[in-house]
Amino acid sequence: MFDVSTAGTSGQPAITADQAAEAEYEAVCVSGDEEDCGEASGPLTDADALTRWMAEHTRDTGHQRFRRAYCEYAHVEPGAWL
Ligand SMILES: [Zn+2]
Repeated sequence: MFDVSTAGTSGQPAITADQAAEAEYEAVCVSGDEEDCGEASGPLTDADALTRWMAEHTRDTGHQRFRRAYCEYAHVEPGAWL
């Protein structure tokens, strides 16, 4: 998880996470020599569910490398940049 919010100081637009919308977690298996496996968890709203999906995929396939993404919705107040 990371924080890409801005406070709206120095003329920047103020960007905050939209608490009304649930964040999403998703992982894609990128294991493989020639081509990535490509199996994807699909969007999940629970970080633990994502961890479990990756653990089960590793158990079932031996694959150990994933591209993991965290997505959230943002609310923007226009600032001096606009
Ligand atoms: Zn895989």
